[in-house]
Amino acid sequence: MTTNPYHDSATSFETIATERTLLVDPATGATITIGARVEHVTVDAVTGRQHREVTHLVACSADGQQLLFPYKQALFACACCGARPLMHATRCSACGRFVCDACRVLLPTGTICRDCDRKPWWLRVCQWITNL
Ligand SMILES: [Zn+2]
Ligand SMILES: [Zn+2]
Repeated sequence: MTTNPYHDSATSFETIATERTLLVDPATGATITIGARVEHVTVDAVTGRQHREVTHLVACSADGQQLLFPYKQALFACACCGARPLMHATRCSACGRFVCDACRVLLPTGTICRDCDRKPWWLRVCQWITNL
């Protein structure tokens, strides 16, 4: 005789749906899960009553902030180290790309990214002039 597993426990738990919110990298097609919605149904073995439970899972952004659904904020990716999603990013005043707090370099003339900081100053001036 096979026992019905639903009669052994007081409740049984069944996941009936999982939805995920993904970020897709336009260049590589790689995905990052930033949120999920999981739907469970619990069945009480004694009464047979169903209880439906929907859970929303929220991921943390790379800069440690909660990404709140429905993601109205703009999300950034760091141009230097690739950290993402970021809630807060600084725009490099030399190349115009967005970078995370760890990759920005504060100068008296403004904030630039790590990559631009490594370039010789004359090249930076040339790029700055062409961006005017
Ligand atoms: Zn970075
Ligand atoms: Zn830069």
